[in-house]
Amino acid sequence: MQPALFLDKDNTLIPDIPYNIDPALIALTPGAGESLQRLQAQGFALVVVTNQSGVARGYFSEAAIDGVYARLQDLLSKYGVHLDGFFYCPHHPDGKVAAYARQCACRKPQPGLILKAARTLNLDLARSWMIGDIAADIHAGRRAGCNTILFARYADAAKEIAVSDPDYVVETFGELEEIIYENEIRRLSD
Ligand SMILES: [Mg+2]
Repeated sequence: MQPALFLDKDNTLIPDIPYNIDPALIALTPGAGESLQRLQAQGFALVVVTNQSGVARGYFSEAAIDGVYARLQDLLSKYGVHLDGFFYCPHHPDGKVAAYARQCACRKPQPGLILKAARTLNLDLARSWMIGDIAADIHAGRRAGCNTILFARYADAAKEIAVSDPDYVVETFGELEEIIYENEIRRLSD
């Protein structure tokens, strides 16, 4: 089984523009391409797990999300990186589109997206990491049995940290990389 990095999309892998689905407005967080290239070379699967309640809210279709995924693959390919998976939750309990307006098991903080990815891609959750900018990401990762990193680059994360108690807090992909390598070295020497 392969370990994975489960990456939140907005304000983690890319700067957030709320409900944006225009590929032209999507850019990678600085350092993400370089770090993910090295981490993928070390054997980590790279999987995006993202809440996309804009579908349930009627802001855009599921088909529009395909364009976002394609843009991310394109941006990352410039670094020799490919995403192994892209799992999203289109639901929201208060959604306006009936087909998606419900409680579900996949909207973070639920662990459904991570568990589905692990089943689909045969991933080792105990050696994997959930990385995201809010408490819902950390809770989802912990419920799935992963290590957790709160990515605090884009906003004052004090409240998110207080309510989720992540294993680590970082502000850059470089810091994130160091933490993961240190943990792997510790694991191998145990
Ligand atoms: Mg986010």
